[in-house]
Amino acid sequence: MKTDTAKLIEATYFAADKHRDQRRRDKGATPYINHPISLTHILVDEGGIEDTDVLCAALLHDTIEDTDTTAEELAVHFGDRITAIVLEVTDDTSQHFTVRKQAQIDHAPHMSREAKLVKLADKISNVRDLLAFPPHDWPIARKQAYMDFCAAVVNGLRGTNAGLEAAFDALVARRVELA
Ligand code: ZN
Repeated sequence: MKTDTAKLIEATYFAADKHRDQRRRDKGATPYINHPISLTHILVDEGGIEDTDVLCAALLHDTIEDTDTTAEELAVHFGDRITAIVLEVTDDTSQHFTVRKQAQIDHAPHMSREAKLVKLADKISNVRDLLAFPPHDWPIARKQAYMDFCAAVVNGLRGTNAGLEAAFDALVARRVELA
């Protein structure tokens, strides 16, 4: 049985390796791994979350959707609970973009508490980046639409963690800053 510290290090290393060649869409092309790491920081710092499996799932949350990682691979390395959380927050990439986005809104209220925590942190991270390091090629209407989509998902996650929900609401209050 691995210690909590060992699990966190292994998940960090695994995600860094899988996202090695990926960059965010901001002007500075931030390394992708900054994003999953930011989720764990949000969960600990603003959500008060200390469940190692939730933190590991946050580190791994985009590996199936955005890299060649399979659910079987995650299960071998990290076990069934972490894998199940990651699968809950993974879009079905065989579906069209707009179908996937609507599915996120529709599924949000029905997710496990653990997956809702990861999803809340994901939306906080993405909207925080949208305000601070926006995608270099997005017009303002697209940024506004993206923030509104995130808010619609978060509305289905409410009642899960007051600290995280307040952090998200503080970001939405800054919608006028989008330029
Ligand atoms: Zn994400």
